[in-house]
Formats: sequence, C-alpha cells, structure tokens
Amino acid sequence: MNEGETREADVLILGAGMSGLMAARDLVQAGRRVLVVDKGRGIGGRMAYRRIGEAIFDHGAQYVSARDERFCRVVEALAEQGMMAAWSEGMPGLPGDHLRWRGAPHMKAIPVALSSGIEVVCGTKIDSIHRHGDGWRVMCEGGSVIDCAAMIVTVPIPQALALLDAGGVTVEDSMRQRLEQVEYSRCFTVMAVLDQPSGVPAPGVMTFSEGPLAWLADNQVKGISPVPALTLQASAACSLARWEMDRQETAQLLLAEAAKYVSAQVVEHQIHGWRFSKPVHLYGEPFAAVGDGLWLAGDAFGGGRVEGAALSGWAAAADLLAGGRLRWMSRWLLVGTNPLWLLARDWLDWLVRRSCMRQDNVLCCARLRIASEAEWRRMS
Ligand SMILES: Cc1cc2nc3c(=O)[nH]c(=O)nc-3n(C[C@H](O)[C@H](O)[C@H](O)COP(=O)(O)OP(=O)(O)OC[C@H]3O[C@@H](n4cnc5c(N)ncnc54)[C@H](O)[C@@H]3O)c2cc1C
Repeated sequence: MNEGETREADVLILGAGMSGLMAARDLVQAGRRVLVVDKGRGIGGRMAYRRIGEAIFDHGAQYVSARDERFCRVVEALAEQGMMAAWSEGMPGLPGDHLRWRGAPHMKAIPVALSSGIEVVCGTKIDSIHRHGDGWRVMCEGGSVIDCAAMIVTVPIPQALALLDAGGVTVEDSMRQRLEQVEYSRCFTVMAVLDQPSGVPAPGVMTFSEGPLAWLADNQVKGISPVPALTLQASAACSLARWEMDRQETAQLLLAEAAKYVSAQVVEHQIHGWRFSKPVHLYGEPFAAVGDGLWLAGDAFGGGRVEGAALSGWAAAADLLAGGRLRWMSRWLLVGTNPLWLLARDWLDWLVRRSCMRQDNVLCCARLRIASEAEWRRMS
C-alpha cells in the first residue's frame, strides 16, 4: 500500500498463508468484500520456494497430507489443474503410509492457485490492531491505514498478541493464558546446489532422529528441480541452540552432516532461519474468537501443518459468517428463565465444546459454535 493510503474492507485477513487464503475464499464466496494483507514479498507464508540459478528448492513446508474430506477435495482439484502432484506413499522414517503431495512446480504454486479471485496486498507489514468504532483499524508500516468491520488474524500467535498489545486490544485472561502457552519450534533450512545427482533413492528423502539434521530432501528426485538441489532442515534442538550463532557456521555444520549421505559436492548454498516453524503445543480449538468481530486462526489452532492451517481458516470464516445468526439464536434461547430453555442452552454449549475438542471435527465445531460462556453470562 502507498504511504498514507486508507483502505476499507468488510473483512480484513492478516496473513496470506494457507489459513488466511482458505478463510478468504469462503468469505468471498459468501459475498463479503475481503482484503488479505501480508508483509511478505509474495503470498504463501511458510509454503515457500527458492531458486538459486537453475536449482529450485521447497524451502518451507515440504509436503502436504490430506485427511479431512473437504481438504482432500481441494487437493484433488488442484492436482487435476496440475498445481499439485503425488510425491510418495510413505516416507522413510515418517509414520503412516498415506500419500504425501507436493506443489507443482513447487510448494508456492498451491497458495498461488488458491489466491485466484482474492484481493491480496503483499509487502505491507501491519504494526498494530486497534478498536475503531464498531469495527477495527490496523496501522501499517509506512503510515497507511485499513479499516474493517471484522478481522481474521492468521500470523503466528506471539506475533498476533504483539499486534493486539500494540493497539491496546485486551484479550480475556483465560484466552490469553492459553494463547501464551502455544510455542513454536525454530528451524534452520539450508538449500544446497550439487555438482551431480545426490544418490539419495526415491522418494528423495532421509529423516534423522538424532544429531543436528532432521530432514534431507533431494528436490531433483522429488521432481521440482531440473538440477541436483538439496533442502536440509536442522532439528528443532539444533535450531534453538544455534539461533544466535553465526549462520554460515550452522550451514557448514549441516552440510558436513549431509555429506555423510550424499555422493556429490556442494556448489553453492544459502541458509534461512524460520523463527516460527511449526507449533509445538496447539491451542486446542480451531480458532480463537477474541470477540466483537476479531478471530485468531492459523496452524497452531487447526493442527500444526498445512492441512491444519486450512481447516483453521475455514473454521474461523464459518464462525464469522454464522456469527449474527448464532448470536440471535443464543439470545432467543435466553428469553425467559424456563429451566428447559436453560437446559437446551447448556446442552448446545456442551455439544459445541465437545466438538471443539475433536481435531477431526473442526468444521462441525465452527458451524455449531455459539457464544462462549463469558458471552452467555454477559448477555444474560
Ligand atoms: C521449514 C518448515 C517445514 C515445514 N514442513 C511441513 C510439511 O512438510 N508439511 C506440512 O503440512 N507443514 C509443514 N510445515 C508447516 C506449514 O508450513 C504451516 O503449518 C502452514 O504453512 C502454516 O500456514 P498459516 O497460514 O497458518 O501461517 P503462515 O504460512 O505462516 O502465514 C502467515 C502469514 O502472515 C504474514 N505476517 C506475519 N506477520 C505479519 C504482519 N505483521 N503484517 C503482515 N503480514 C504478516 C507472514 O508473512 C505469513 O505469510 C513446515 C513449516 C516450516 C517452516
């Protein structure tokens, strides 16, 4: 956005990763005027790729698993359009023999395809989130402003809390406590161009449960790079321990470790550090409704992976769309003090909470989700 510019939207979505884009698609389809904003140069968030010369690397998420019925349909549709391809059934060292998918030609192709028809503004960093009349206002780096009636914030939770704090938005104590318990692992990723094929057999993956290296993937064997190109991921422990150290030394450590398994020389390499790689402890519900039209969503809510991020985005969008109707329903249920009404209200509330606990039922939870206990009390 230009310096000093002011924009308006029905719904502002912060973050053009998987969760933000999936939420946006449902809201656009429901007729809402949606704006997605991301600080990155391009969309996709942690679904990223990098190019070094001719070599192509998946540099964030390595593969996509699909278990949820709706998410499976999305994957199948993208595969039909040539934006995704089957990578492998089963991976050495990883549990489960299910099919793992990759993006085509690389991971970023997936969010790019999903962003079609959605207005996304990249290269705009949000600095703070404020209450503004009945809605919300975000202040962007460079002085631009966006006003909106509702917001879904899909950035990693510590960053989301920092944005709310910067704008003086209060989060209910118990919710804040739960949000603060969510932690993310860090991950150093090294991308290395090789002088000849690595010799790593199909599907081109090695995983390690000990030592500094956790994952080694040959992007040529994977089918995304025309030339030999390795993606190395440090273990969470190594990444944390070396976070403040010299990055090139860390790169050399990981390359030396990989050399034990690869029959080729490194021609060129780069290293990247992911501060928020994967959530270690999840929030336990598919989104957090902060209240008054503000939702937090993302992989830490939906299950810690690409699919979980998508489910969280859908769930938050469904809750946003259901908001008015469900609030009306809850008021209607509160009319009078007849014990039967109260029983019905408690039963609905129990049902919602129970479905929230089930990871595989996030959509059902979103559709059923009614006002939280605090809102019940406030309204009654
Ligand atoms: C190295 C690595 C390997 C992984 N491997 C796998 C894997 O193999 N399989 C798998 O399923 N998952 C994997 N994951 C996890 C997966 O990538 C994530 O779960 C998923 O992509 C998260 O999507 P999201 O939309 O929740 O968040 P993100 O993709 O992080 O999107 C959040 C967006 O918010 C933007 N943002 C942040 N702050 C601001 C701000 N202040 N203003 C504007 N924009 C902002 C960011 O730029 C980002 O684009 C991996 C992750 C990493 C890092």
